[in-house]
Amino acid sequence: MRLRHKPGAADQIRQYPQYVILNPQDSKGKWQSVFEKEQPIHIEVGTGRGRFIVEMAKANPHINYIGIEKYTSVISDALDKLIEAEVPNLKLLNVDAQKLTDFFEDGEIDRVYLNFSDPWPKVRHEKRRLTHKTFLSMYQQIMNKDGEIHFKTDNQELFEFSIMSIANYGMTIHFLSLDLHNSEFEGNIMTEYEEKFSSKGNRIYRIEAAYRK
Ligand code: SAM
Repeated sequence: MRLRHKPGAADQIRQYPQYVILNPQDSKGKWQSVFEKEQPIHIEVGTGRGRFIVEMAKANPHINYIGIEKYTSVISDALDKLIEAEVPNLKLLNVDAQKLTDFFEDGEIDRVYLNFSDPWPKVRHEKRRLTHKTFLSMYQQIMNKDGEIHFKTDNQELFEFSIMSIANYGMTIHFLSLDLHNSEFEGNIMTEYEEKFSSKGNRIYRIEAAYRK
């Protein structure tokens, strides 16, 4: 992600504590009470500029969503979209996903979305990939036993690594597409990166995987 400095981003985030939860560790084990309705919680790790999570929240009022993004200048764009959409079932966290277990209690989450995660192509950076086994283990801890990971990317190397990592972890892959936009899959909501890379002709890969057998 190319970062640009966005003056006032940190101040803006502090002005909307109803949308960007400022001390998420205080909500650990209590996320249902942060939302208007008690319903399943789906998180997106690496939300970026927020189009996916805002559109998902609008389309699925029966789900509570949490978008997680580590860069303030980036999540500020997601906040702009949330302010406009005014949906009650979406919150944003400006935190690093490496600390997910500080913010969520065991079994508190129902699904993790990973969209166009940073590929970290160098082998020595493998552990930073969001589908590395250390992340899969963290997601498993915070998800209930029926928890699922839904992952899409245009990066073939990251996709292959992720399939191996997910399969080696013992998860079950129950959906796989090597060309999502030319598949039967219905209701795809595009992310900012997805629009950019698919318009260049890149194929989009997608998997859904579950921890249950
Ligand atoms: N999902 C968006 C999309 O598809 O348009 C953004 C994709 S961008 C390539 C990856 C995003 O993940 C970046 O905004 C980056 O800051 C964020 N990210 C990467 N690692 C993260 C981490 N450990 N915790 C939180 N956000 C992370």
